[in-house]
Amino acid sequence: MATLDRARLASLLEQEQAAYTSNHPRSRELFGQADNLFGRVPMTWMNMWTGGFPLYLDHATGNRVTDVDGHTYVDFALGDTGAMAGHSPKPTVAAVQRRAGELGGITTMLPTGDAQWVGAELERRFGMPLWSFTLSATDANRWAIRLARLATGKPKVLVFAYCYHGSVDEAFALPGPEGKAQSRPGNVAPPVDLDLTTRVATWNDIESVEAALAHGDVAVVLTEPALTNIGIVLPEDGFLERVRELATEHGALLLIDETHTFSAGWGGATRAWGLEPDIFVIGKSIGGGIPCGAYGITREVAAAVTRHTDAGEADIVDVGGVGGTLAGNALSTAAMRATLGEVLTEDAFAHMVELATAFTAGVQATFDELDVPWSVSQLGARAEYRFARPAPRTGEESAAAADDELDAYLHLALCNRGVLMTPFHNMALMCPETTRVDVDRHTEVFREVVGALFE
Ligand code: PMP
Repeated sequence: MATLDRARLASLLEQEQAAYTSNHPRSRELFGQADNLFGRVPMTWMNMWTGGFPLYLDHATGNRVTDVDGHTYVDFALGDTGAMAGHSPKPTVAAVQRRAGELGGITTMLPTGDAQWVGAELERRFGMPLWSFTLSATDANRWAIRLARLATGKPKVLVFAYCYHGSVDEAFALPGPEGKAQSRPGNVAPPVDLDLTTRVATWNDIESVEAALAHGDVAVVLTEPALTNIGIVLPEDGFLERVRELATEHGALLLIDETHTFSAGWGGATRAWGLEPDIFVIGKSIGGGIPCGAYGITREVAAAVTRHTDAGEADIVDVGGVGGTLAGNALSTAAMRATLGEVLTEDAFAHMVELATAFTAGVQATFDELDVPWSVSQLGARAEYRFARPAPRTGEESAAAADDELDAYLHLALCNRGVLMTPFHNMALMCPETTRVDVDRHTEVFREVVGALFE
């Protein structure tokens, strides 16, 4: 098995860093001028881009991004799924222009007919009959968790170690001593001790799920169908089915968050794998880049909620804690209708999944040829490599395989060769406009930069 030479990695990283700095003078200059931005970026997480300063966007279309220094990239980051439909897909742009310009009324607090169209389409894809809209997946998770607490009368959320569901307070937990939840390192000023709100289990470890649920205080199991925010950690056979059964046995609801795993197919992993959630959350991609999100619930959950609201015990209409002024606005719903109806179609998914399969095979070929101790996992239209072989089975194992220096080297080396990967991950996502030539370009460049490390 090939071994990593840290000294060689450090010197390659230095070369790539120097090339990045000298090739992007305009981005560097703009970053240097951003004195009024906290962390010099529009949002602090943009400092996740490696290289000391982010690329500044000039324009983007399809799967191409061009920076202010005039370099054009094949974009596999796709806004970490926000641009899974490609950048500025034409049908979405047309619908947005019509709503914002010709028709007018970006946000009026009034519904349009688009919302019902989207609700029906979401039911066709994901099965849930009743939907509410948000402006982010985070909000969808937050509000859905409140409904789950109300519906079950139980206080806690069960999550998996190293999950990510947006900035949801309850989810920043790791297993601690004596089965208690503890705050994840880096969690910014949690409002209360995580053990008051959360139980934590280990992915693919059904006994840990059973032990957490056995306390009888879990309102909702909040999970992705595969972990996707600590590399992709796929579920083992039967794991999700057993989680579903255990949730039911212990009176907890199952919330499936498909914000990323929508990549599994046109109906997400829920359709592809026959999952049976009580609550379904999605965001990011379905508006083609326009802020939006949604949660769907079963009729049983709806009835359990309205029992309490009808009795005057909770308020989901005024200031009870569910909803936002701009949620479900006309622009956002027009964008969702166009994106789901005309861009992220069944045919588009077939193309995207085929390309992700080729991408995965290309990465695996480099690993095999050079005997690199890494792995690659595919989830429909997305794929991700991780610095462990075999592929990690749990969030904990995957976290242990993190390597910041390797991440920095690969991201910079690929970027310097015209390929953008998601900054938080080594994730690549295909969009309807990605081509086989783009995938082959990654395969070739990946072979070159990994070869420089191991040959
Ligand atoms: N759920 C999952 C599974 C996610 O990966 C993310 C973001 N990466 C979110 C929710 C939150 O999405 P947003 O930041 O758009 O609210």
